[in-house]
Amino acid sequence: MNESGISSALKEAGLEVLTCMQCGTCTGSCPSGRYTSLNTRRIVRSARTGKNILQDENLWMCTTCYTCQERCPRDIKIADTILTIRTLAVHEGFMLPAHRKVSQLVLESGHAVPINDDVKEKRKKLQMEAIPETVHKYPDALKDVQTLLQSCEFDKLTADK
Ligand code: SF4
Ligand code: SF4
Repeated sequence: MNESGISSALKEAGLEVLTCMQCGTCTGSCPSGRYTSLNTRRIVRSARTGKNILQDENLWMCTTCYTCQERCPRDIKIADTILTIRTLAVHEGFMLPAHRKVSQLVLESGHAVPINDDVKEKRKKLQMEAIPETVHKYPDALKDVQTLLQSCEFDKLTADK
């Protein structure tokens, strides 16, 4: 992916980052940035210049809480921009191992966090059915989910490299 690849992908998605004035409101608002090396303003600056940041691990530190996007004085769709760059990264084979694992769990079980015996017991204690009304209870629906994910090559994109 060359520099212009990121710029054109953002343009195609209708995302405008050139109006960023580097005020830092996004960085100051970012809950994740308080605990990780994520610097949102820096990500936007890279997006502005089209710099190739597909291998930047900080892309994956964003929890997509959208706080930055709500507060940006220039109405820049920051979280959507990060998600778009992440999508490009995945297509180029870059993803943190933990995110890859979660993606594989979704493919296998239909859940990012599949139920376990401990949770089943807790549900029973709360007078709930042990198995929730999700694909856990309806295996045929899980097959439908897997068919959908395979049709967009989610399985190939998230397979171990
Ligand atoms: S809050 Fe908006 S204008 Fe300010 S640095 Fe972040 S993206 Fe740029
Ligand atoms: S959406 Fe991501 S970058 Fe923006 S404030 Fe939330 S965690 Fe930080």
